[in-house]
Amino acid sequence: MSYISRLTQAAIDLDALVKNYQYIDSISDTSNTIAVIKADAYGHDSIKVAHALQDYVSHFAVGFIDEALTLRNAGVTTKIIILEGPFKEADFAIAQEHNFSLMLHSDYQIDWFKSFNLATTATQLTNELWLKVDTGMNRLGFQINHIDQVISQLSIEQQAQLVLCSHFSTAEQLNSSKPLAQLSKLKALVAKYHCKFSMANSAGILNWPQSHGDYTRLGLALYGISPIGDTSTSAPLIPVMTLQANIIAIHTVKIGDTVGYGDIWQANRDTKLATIAIGYADGYPRNAKAGTPVFINGEVAPVVGRVSMDMITVDITDLASVNIGDTAELWGKNISIDVVAQYSDTINYELLTRVSKRVPKIVITT
Ligand SMILES: *Cc1c(COP(=O)(O)O)cnc(C)c1O
Repeated sequence: MSYISRLTQAAIDLDALVKNYQYIDSISDTSNTIAVIKADAYGHDSIKVAHALQDYVSHFAVGFIDEALTLRNAGVTTKIIILEGPFKEADFAIAQEHNFSLMLHSDYQIDWFKSFNLATTATQLTNELWLKVDTGMNRLGFQINHIDQVISQLSIEQQAQLVLCSHFSTAEQLNSSKPLAQLSKLKALVAKYHCKFSMANSAGILNWPQSHGDYTRLGLALYGISPIGDTSTSAPLIPVMTLQANIIAIHTVKIGDTVGYGDIWQANRDTKLATIAIGYADGYPRNAKAGTPVFINGEVAPVVGRVSMDMITVDITDLASVNIGDTAELWGKNISIDVVAQYSDTINYELLTRVSKRVPKIVITT
């Protein structure tokens, strides 16, 4: 039996998702825009997101093969790039069977790749070969002084299919000199090997048009959230997720009373409180400080007291009208997830990806 009692949900606006994709694709129109849908599409439900985008995109990207198989099992047939490459040698056979492109970043993966090629003589190389180069993030990728040796191990046919990739460490910082330094390192290799390249994540797409290249890798901005702060004037992105929950209790406390675990918040006036059915077990950050805004009936109420596992309390003394059952928005089109992130000492990416399994992702139409 499928029955929903608690109405806490992440409402997912797939029309907004498609619009965001089309907008970003249009500002980098000479590049192919890869939709990055790792981590369950940043908490938005990768299957729903993939089905909504599959008519518009030629490539999805995820972190590892398991995430890609989830999509194949749900009938998604689009080509998928595996950003962290193979975790096991057996991943090559799976990748071939399911049309995944493994982004190779280390020598052990090249060794697996060569032995896989030897074992499967009938292999037809129809896929591009994605290699990751470390231009300064120092996390994944071949060192620049080693890449010649790596490429020399590839066949002529494989070299002809080469796509060199790298990743920005500071693309969101417009006055950093690092992004263009990273880009020029990658471009020098691209010129040498006459190959395709992919450098830009969302912040790279928005801040560094020189980096668009053959493929961009669009993550955060696809979900309507800017990686470069407020872009309401420059980039018309629409938040795809609205995290919402309902008010399940209303009561008044006297001046001097405390609220919630640890008694960390004390009323400095007689205060009307609403208790909302969402907590840290749902992915609402336990760190959210007093004052974190919650949107109720067109107005904003501040969080007071500590976030519990299943509930939060907000001060509704100054709100015109609040009733049991009313819906509260924790973040979405009215409350910027960036503001919630600031109040919680974290970033928008973490909040999105930590919305827990307990919260149903419900597709809405606008
Ligand atoms: C996650 C990821 C992206 C997407 O980054 P956003 O900042 O979300 O756009 C791009 N490239 C790689 C390698 C990634 O891991």
